[in-house]
Amino acid sequence: MLAVLTGAGAGIATEPSTSVGWVFGTATFILVAGWGARYPLRRFLAVRKPLSPAVAEWLSADFPFYRYVERERFESDMKIILSEWMFEGVAGVKVTDDLRAAVAAGAALLLHGRPDREWPSRYTILLYPHRFDDEYTAGEEGEFEGMAHSQGPVILSVESVRQGWENPGDGHNVVLHEMAHLLDYESNFANGAPSLIASGSAAAWRELVRKEIRRVRIGRSMLRRYAARNPAELFAVAVENFFERPELMARRHPELFAALRNIFRIDPLTWDS
Ligand SMILES: [Zn+2]
Repeated sequence: MLAVLTGAGAGIATEPSTSVGWVFGTATFILVAGWGARYPLRRFLAVRKPLSPAVAEWLSADFPFYRYVERERFESDMKIILSEWMFEGVAGVKVTDDLRAAVAAGAALLLHGRPDREWPSRYTILLYPHRFDDEYTAGEEGEFEGMAHSQGPVILSVESVRQGWENPGDGHNVVLHEMAHLLDYESNFANGAPSLIASGSAAAWRELVRKEIRRVRIGRSMLRRYAARNPAELFAVAVENFFERPELMARRHPELFAALRNIFRIDPLTWDS
């Protein structure tokens, strides 16, 4: 609409009696319309291309949730993420298609029940070989398996990424964890209340998070102790468990499970049938 107004406006403003004005107006129209369409066009082209054989192979052989997702939409989301996000290897890591798929699949899974939402383009994913410490030095002794920054790259340990998908029932998956933080950052700062939460439920969610943190602290939670650090970590660890151990979570934390089911509009409990 803006393009139409600008194009027509330029035509009228520069003497419609001469063709120069209309040529200029039309050129402006094409430029503005082209600029506006560039983004959807790029996505349209990305989705039309088939998945690379390595990505398709990774999905069918190594992605534990592949048989539960709606394939066409899931693959479209994967293609968009793979075409828009930057992946860089650090300390000798070679960025392969299967590695990129292992990251993109986690992102696509989190929003699979929310086709109304999409991931921002242009995230940068830095792939470290192993865990790393707080000075970003890679080493097997490092404390961190991943780290998400609100205004910077997401760092993931390749070893942890692979372990996460290889053990889909242990409630531990660094990709799901860091992607959950990214959703949280969409509301500008990570406070454990991602923008996916309907505003009417925000207060109840915050109270629930407070309660769950207390449970972790006194050892009465299925969530690992790290979740008690703050609301953002509670949310991220809960997301890992929601997808990987839904039965246990629904039984031991029914309120938390129901809240996450509302947030993601997905019910992993139905996935085993
Ligand atoms: Zn975290």
